[in-house]
Amino acid sequence: MLCLHELVPPEKAVWIPGRREIEGVMNPSVKRRYCVLCGKFHYIGTHKGKKLNYWIDFLSRFSRVMNKLFKHERKISKPMTEAQRRLIQAEMEAHEDFSDLFSVTFSQQQEVFEELVLKHTGICQRELEVVYGRMEGH
Ligand SMILES: [Zn+2]
Repeated sequence: MLCLHELVPPEKAVWIPGRREIEGVMNPSVKRRYCVLCGKFHYIGTHKGKKLNYWIDFLSRFSRVMNKLFKHERKISKPMTEAQRRLIQAEMEAHEDFSDLFSVTFSQQQEVFEELVLKHTGICQRELEVVYGRMEGH
């Protein structure tokens, strides 16, 4: 069961040290409120996580590009099958980081997404970057 989250009052917010959200960029320390029930910090920065729908759409775009790179250009060693795509989607649907956006950041979600793609398709990190590179191109 997901926590319903109950924030501490603003005067009880605490300072937490800055995190590295993007390679090489340190965020400054921020004052954050947390949940009295589960203890998680409420993330309100600019790298907030996105809703599950965004990631399901991202997955289908990713698999389209990946399959195109496999089939027509042989830049990827294997395709993403329909069964693999559904398995990845099912794992995302069950994963708290995609249903509870209280404390998750976009980069945390992206890490989970990448783990699932690597695990289910068997492609390597380099191939994943190739797909990303092509996705940015349009
Ligand atoms: Zn909570």
